Amino acid sequence: VNPDGDVLRARQARARTAMAASGVDALLLSVGADLPYFTGYEAMPLERLTMLVLDREGAATLVVPELEAPRVPDIGACTVRPWSETSDPVSVVAELVGPARTLAVGDQTWTRFTLALQAAIPGVVWLPAQAVVGPLRAVKDAAEIAALRAAAHAVDAVAAEMRDRPFGGRTEIDVSRELVDRMLARGHDRPNFAIVGSGPNGASPHHDAGSRIIGDGDVVVCDFGGTMAGYCSDITRMFVVGEPAPEIADTYAALAVAQELAVRAATVGTTCEDVDAVARHALAPAGLADAFIHRVGHGIGLDAHEDPYLVAGNATPLAPGHAFSIEPGVYFPGRYGMRLEDIVVAASAGPDRLNGAARDLAVVA
Ligand code: ZN
Ligand code: ZN
Ligand code: ZN
Repeated sequence: VNPDGDVLRARQARARTAMAASGVDALLLSVGADLPYFTGYEAMPLERLTMLVLDREGAATLVVPELEAPRVPDIGACTVRPWSETSDPVSVVAELVGPARTLAVGDQTWTRFTLALQAAIPGVVWLPAQAVVGPLRAVKDAAEIAALRAAAHAVDAVAAEMRDRPFGGRTEIDVSRELVDRMLARGHDRPNFAIVGSGPNGASPHHDAGSRIIGDGDVVVCDFGGTMAGYCSDITRMFVVGEPAPEIADTYAALAVAQELAVRAATVGTTCEDVDAVARHALAPAGLADAFIHRVGHGIGLDAHEDPYLVAGNATPLAPGHAFSIEPGVYFPGRYGMRLEDIVVAASAGPDRLNGAARDLAVVA
């Protein structure tokens, strides 16, 4: 997805409206996804400062190392202000900011630059840019939803392929590498993670695939995703080596019902925390509420985790274009864990589930 200058300038205009509403004079955006969202340019996360100064009055100036300037797409989204190797980019930003009193700085800006800017621009209020940018990025346009859907379909295909693959006798790392290879083969530009948690390791939700050899009867959590054309995928499917014990099958059935109910609850106007509560309440009768130790979901887009977060305390109502995961999980330390995850887009016609891979507990060899 390469948004053109018109799309980028429209995003900047929406940011200015949000800045006016929250009293922010300028946005200062460095590494991370905010910069490409507004300029089409992604800065390398280097020690040289790259910073977009987005002024509420209309200027958008990209302060960029001279040697990186040729990489900035020439699509009229901003004025490029290169700085030479021996000059001071912090003073360039300070000059552009001028008499501003309230500045919002990108959440992933390197601390060394934030501290230098705070020293160079005294007497201003500093806010996190996420408060301004997060709600804008959370609402996806049609092109962004198409990109998320394509990425979702790619990992769906990987999940389907894995159902015919042997797990028993292999290490978690071996299965994880296969997930990565298959994501790349299905069109991803880069993998972001490929969690394989077998047996007791599955009780750690973000377990790093390790040298454990997957054995007979093991429940295996596979949670994987990557970036395709700039947008992220993220899916979790469950596998079991051989026919599952009744307790495993029952627990999985309760989890699958909770996930289904939470997906159906993710309608426009429902609050993020209410969607989380639906999954939690669904697990309670089976005695599984205490085993569900994380929020039900996170937004997804240019970043794998972004606004909106579906968690108790977030009363933000879902809006058309919000894209997020629905991923309840239950974890039993020392024994096993289970999670089931799809990406969903809130739409006026109802929740639009992007993933279509089979959701049953896959019995593998
Ligand atoms: Zn996670
Ligand atoms: Zn995931
Ligand atoms: Zn996720």
